[in-house]
Amino acid sequence: MNIEIKGLSKIYPNGHAAINNVNLEIGSGMFGLLGPNGAGKSSLMRILVTLQKATEGSVLMDGMDINEHRKKIRPFIGYLPQDFTYFSKLKTWEFLDYTARLSTSLKRKKRMTEVDRMLDQVGLLEVRERMANKLSGGMKRRLGIAQALIGNPRLLVIDEPTTGLDPEERIRFRNILSDLSQKDVTIILSTHIVGDISSTCHNMAMLNKGEVAFHGSPEGMIDQVRGHVWQVTLGDDEFNVLKTKFPVVSTIPTIGQWEAQFIATDKPHPEAKTITPNLEHAYVYFMENQLGISLV
Ligand code: ADP
Repeated sequence: MNIEIKGLSKIYPNGHAAINNVNLEIGSGMFGLLGPNGAGKSSLMRILVTLQKATEGSVLMDGMDINEHRKKIRPFIGYLPQDFTYFSKLKTWEFLDYTARLSTSLKRKKRMTEVDRMLDQVGLLEVRERMANKLSGGMKRRLGIAQALIGNPRLLVIDEPTTGLDPEERIRFRNILSDLSQKDVTIILSTHIVGDISSTCHNMAMLNKGEVAFHGSPEGMIDQVRGHVWQVTLGDDEFNVLKTKFPVVSTIPTIGQWEAQFIATDKPHPEAKTITPNLEHAYVYFMENQLGISLV
């Protein structure tokens, strides 16, 4: 699925501009939408899945305007909203069967096969009889993915999927997504967690205050911080001074000292050495230098 977002803006009735003239082109595979809380990610996601309308601009999916072809496009879309918590007193398989009945016209036998195939795909087959509201946080999120996948969507929109998950579940979730992205599906993953993007997406955009601050590959974003990430080992006093001047991206305490990594345009300390940057570094650099959000 090819998605063209042109001049998109969303102004809520209270006058707040959540999205401001966003232009993006998204092809198949995994696309990461990164940005701090309040950047406008959920607003953009809800427009893409046709749950709300933009104030201005257009979205074309394979050349079709989503407002004009809403009915035709909806069956192609799977959506896992941020607040996916609507678990009533249904067993895991019953919940999925319920969503399959809403979103497909499959007859019972085929539907049951599809439900079990989805449960297997997200690693929940062995808990199919467990009450859905008794699943762990990570399992619920995986059930959320399964319900979004019912009906084989060509566009999968996932809003903040790993928030609140423990590291093991987070990795499991990312693996499910990267398996899916091998297929001819467009997956848009919105997150404020940099690791979600760096481990799965080839293309990405960074939103800030409703505007696109960066659009390209994660490597392209990392390139912008090259030469500005520094590592130095410092005693308490020097460390305490430097951390008030430059954003610290990591610290490892050693005996009486700190091995610290800073983001700084110029060398922050005579003994500091540049290190190979990653997306986390690039995100901090962007927030500080391009967007003027002080993290110190
Ligand atoms: P994100 O998903 O990046 O956290 P959102 O799209 O949820 O961002 O929100 C972007 C901005 O729009 C925030 O300032 C938020 O408070 C505001 N906002 C979101 N939904 C509404 C709404 N229904 N009415 C008014 N303001 C809203």
